[in-house]
Amino acid sequence: MTIQNYINGQFQDPLENNWIDNYSPANGEIYGKIPSSTTTDVDAAYTAAKQAFPSWSKTTLETRSRILIKISELLEAHIQRFAAAESKDNGKPISLAKAVDIPRAASNFRFFGNAITQFASESHESVGQGAVNYTLRQPIGVVGCISPWNLPLYLFTWKIAPAIAAGNCVVAKPSEVTPMTAYLLGEICNEAGLPKGVLNIVHGLGTSTGQAIVEHKDIKAISFTGGTETGAHIARVAAPMFKKLSLELGGKNPNIIFADCDYNDMLNTTVRSSFANQGQICLCGSRIFVEASIYEQFKKDFVAKVSALKVGHPSEESTNIGALVSKSHLEKVMGYIAIAKEENGTILCGGNKVTVKGYENGYYLEPTVIEVTTDDCRVNQEEIFGPVVTIMPFTTEEEVLEMANKVKYGLSATLWTNNLKRTMQLSNQLQAGIVWVNTWMMRDLRTPFGGVKASGVGREGGFEALRFFTEAKNVCIKY
Ligand code: NAD
Repeated sequence: MTIQNYINGQFQDPLENNWIDNYSPANGEIYGKIPSSTTTDVDAAYTAAKQAFPSWSKTTLETRSRILIKISELLEAHIQRFAAAESKDNGKPISLAKAVDIPRAASNFRFFGNAITQFASESHESVGQGAVNYTLRQPIGVVGCISPWNLPLYLFTWKIAPAIAAGNCVVAKPSEVTPMTAYLLGEICNEAGLPKGVLNIVHGLGTSTGQAIVEHKDIKAISFTGGTETGAHIARVAAPMFKKLSLELGGKNPNIIFADCDYNDMLNTTVRSSFANQGQICLCGSRIFVEASIYEQFKKDFVAKVSALKVGHPSEESTNIGALVSKSHLEKVMGYIAIAKEENGTILCGGNKVTVKGYENGYYLEPTVIEVTTDDCRVNQEEIFGPVVTIMPFTTEEEVLEMANKVKYGLSATLWTNNLKRTMQLSNQLQAGIVWVNTWMMRDLRTPFGGVKASGVGREGGFEALRFFTEAKNVCIKY
């Protein structure tokens, strides 16, 4: 399967004819190739976007909205094809791609197709001065969207949909590890009638293709989701060029469980919040803190449930845990299991590679639970981003709050309790962009989404995203 760039509504080979192999995580085999695009391709994408901008930015909101909603409907109509492609490219269970990834990608277009028709700007009457101010929210121009491999189409469209809804034209790059559904999206955009050049998709490595987007002098904003180190690098390049930047980065999220919670609900959700998508969701709660009075019970029940999860080929409907995304990522995650042992962590279950019959070279790993005695260890401080969680007991609110906040990250936190006062106090004090109480990853697309500290700057979601993708201009009229 050969993937091509999507530029000016057309599919084309990389101009310098360089390619990268595309691997299937389920069997470790190369199953296609993708462009290794250079600045020449990014320039071509930019030129197409620039040419499309005058017309697209003046297209009525009703027309933009109709096109976005059409894209959403077409994604829903092709859910089987997209889910199968996502599962094959990423290693995630097909059931997850069908239930979460593709429906959410469709929702992103539908949501922003509707949101743009409700997006209003402010006006201020300067009473006593005989003047009125009003704010224009104008599209920025050509913007860059760069996304990671863990939720490929879901996160790619989470950026593209608000960018084009707001009237920008886009040069976008999906992860080189999972390019397939981004490639298929181009066809859908053409079918939905998106004018050529409004969205351009270039494939390739971060250090060359991604870097060319970030460095491009006329791409005026970068919306990036990925690792913290990459985000820091992008900020170093883009800041002196005065680009608008939105950075959604890594996490090391606490999952705090109090004895007064609804135990069964907590237990089932905690299995999901630990291991959904092989633990490769930036929002997974990888540090589990449990109130001492229920710790032993939790440990027993949690390990039993985790041990029962089925690791298997992603295309099998019964699979709970598919393959990790790549060989190098599998090695990184296994490296952390070795570190945990050196740090005197106790492996309560998992810890080993899994050989799935017929797919011996796939990147499978048992879901792993590690008991730690201190939060001051590498497995509790560094982002592992795999099917590995730690558990440890706590006794007081103060103690657990201190541990929860004592990491460099601050993306999300989950709290399990029925005590209202505690809920309010801890939610106030947790250093995170998102706090879930008695639930996990429940998403309302109108809410601000993003992290604090090393988890990023800026917020996506709802009108926050539309504000990011527009420039505010105040007009003051004296009468
Ligand atoms: P990554 O940083 O390696 O890559 C992300 C994207 O950036 C890819 O498309 C990559 O090609 C590109 N890139 C790499 N170097 C670049 C450069 N120099 N210039 C421009 N682009 C460059 O991250 P990843 O391994 O793909 O994804 C995993 C990371 O993403 C984890 O840290 C995870 O926590 C984070 N993540 C965060 C969120 C969030 O919303 N905060 C969501 C999902 C994933």
